[in-house]
Amino acid sequence: MITIQYAGSKNCPVFLCDVCGEQIQQDGNVLWRHKKPGELRFTHKRCNTTFKKAHGPDWDWLPLPAFLVYLWRNTAIDGGKAKKVVELLAHFGEGGA
Ligand SMILES: [Zn+2]
Repeated sequence: MITIQYAGSKNCPVFLCDVCGEQIQQDGNVLWRHKKPGELRFTHKRCNTTFKKAHGPDWDWLPLPAFLVYLWRNTAIDGGKAKKVVELLAHFGEGGA
């Protein structure tokens, strides 16, 4: 799942693994039912097999880095403007690590 995680006075969006519940950093996957995209699920790569055993084999997936790049591209958000917003939020103690 995607959620907001608080660290002291900061808050930041994070991905949590739908198998183990831990934060996903570096090596995650995004999964959805084959030809029935709707709810997205998120797992560590190491948890992917456990997820498919529990939910069935008909899941397509993307590596999390590719998902983020596609999402970024499909929102057409200007990178320079986004960086300025992140820097402004960091000034006020938001945005996480
Ligand atoms: Zn996991």
